[in-house]
Amino acid sequence: MIDLRSDTVTRPTPEMRRAMAEAPVGDDVFGDDPTVNELEKYVADLLGKEAAIYAPSGTMTNQMALHIQTRPGDEVLLHAGAHIYNYEAGAPALLSSVQVRPLPGEGGTVSPETLREAFRPEDVHFPRPRLLCLENTHNAAGGRVYPLESFRAVVDEARNLNLRVHLDGARIFNAQAATGIPARHWCELADTVSVCSSKGLGAPVGSLLAGDEQTIERARRARKAFGGGMRQAGIVAAGALYAFRNHIDRLAEDHERARRLAEGIAELGYRTTPPETNIVLVEVGDVAQFLRELAQENVLATPAGLTTVRFCTHLDVGDEGVEHAIAAVAGIRKRV
Ligand SMILES: *Cc1c(COP(=O)(O)O)cnc(C)c1O
Repeated sequence: MIDLRSDTVTRPTPEMRRAMAEAPVGDDVFGDDPTVNELEKYVADLLGKEAAIYAPSGTMTNQMALHIQTRPGDEVLLHAGAHIYNYEAGAPALLSSVQVRPLPGEGGTVSPETLREAFRPEDVHFPRPRLLCLENTHNAAGGRVYPLESFRAVVDEARNLNLRVHLDGARIFNAQAATGIPARHWCELADTVSVCSSKGLGAPVGSLLAGDEQTIERARRARKAFGGGMRQAGIVAAGALYAFRNHIDRLAEDHERARRLAEGIAELGYRTTPPETNIVLVEVGDVAQFLRELAQENVLATPAGLTTVRFCTHLDVGDEGVEHAIAAVAGIRKRV
C-alpha cells in the first residue's frame, strides 16, 4: 500500500527504534527524564528560543499556547484555514473559553491590513483581542510556505496592536527545507512556536512548544492540566530527538517527490497546485469515488474539500511509490 494520506503515517526507522530502546529515562513530571530534557534543549536551540516543552501532540502544544496567553472571553485571531480553528476539535472553546476569529487571506497568510481591520478597540461590547496565531507551512493551503517578509509584516502589525503571537510550526522545517531560510528566522518573531516531530520528521510521538523560560514554565502547568504530563517519556522523546537530528535535511526529498507527483498527475489532465513542500492538492470532481478507485490500486490519499484530494509525501514513500501513485491515477482516468 502506498499511503499518501499524511506525513504522520511513517514508522520509526530501525536506527530510531534503537535510539528509543536504549534511551536513558526518568520521571518527566519530576523533570527527571534525561532524554526529554535533552530533546527540549535541542529543539529550543534549533528554534532560537530559551526553552521548550515536550507534549504528546501538536494539538496539545497549540492549545497550551492558547491557554497560557489568553483569558476566558478573549479573542484569538487566525486564518480561516488554520489547523487550530478547523482540526483541533473545538479545543479553543473547550479548554480555554476563548472566541476564535477566522480571517481571510491568500495561501494561509494574514495581511497586516486584514489584521488591523479585524482588531477591536477597547470597548465594553467587544471581546479582547489577545493572540494572533499563524501557521507555517500552511496545511490546508497545501503546505504553502509563509514568506518570511509577509510574516514579519503581520507580526509587526500585531506588535503595534499589542497582540501576542503564536506560530503553529507543525511543519516549520518543511518551510526551512523549501527556502533554505533557517526555521529560527520565523520563530524568533513569535512569542511561542509549536513544532511536530511526528509529521515529516518521522518520529512516532510528540510535539514541542518553545518560547521564553517564563512562558514555558507556565506551559508546564497547562500540560499537566490537559493530561499531557508523561512519566518515562524518554522512550518516545528519543525517537523525536533522533528525528530532529537526522531527518530535517532529507525533507527536501519529500518536496522533490511531491513535485514529481503533481507533475505526473497534471500530465493526466488534472488541475493541481504546484507544491511548495510535501503536500499535493488535486481537483478530482467526485472525491469519494476517486479515493475508492485509488484504494483499489493500493494508493491512499485524503479528501481536502468537496472536489479536492490531498496527497502527502513522506519518508516512507520513495520514487517507486510516487510512480506507482501516478500510474494508479492514470488507471482511474482511463476508466472514467
Ligand atoms: C498536524 C498538525 C498539528 C497537530 O496535530 P497533532 O495530530 O495533534 O499532532 C497542528 N498544526 C498543523 C498545521 C498540523 O498540520
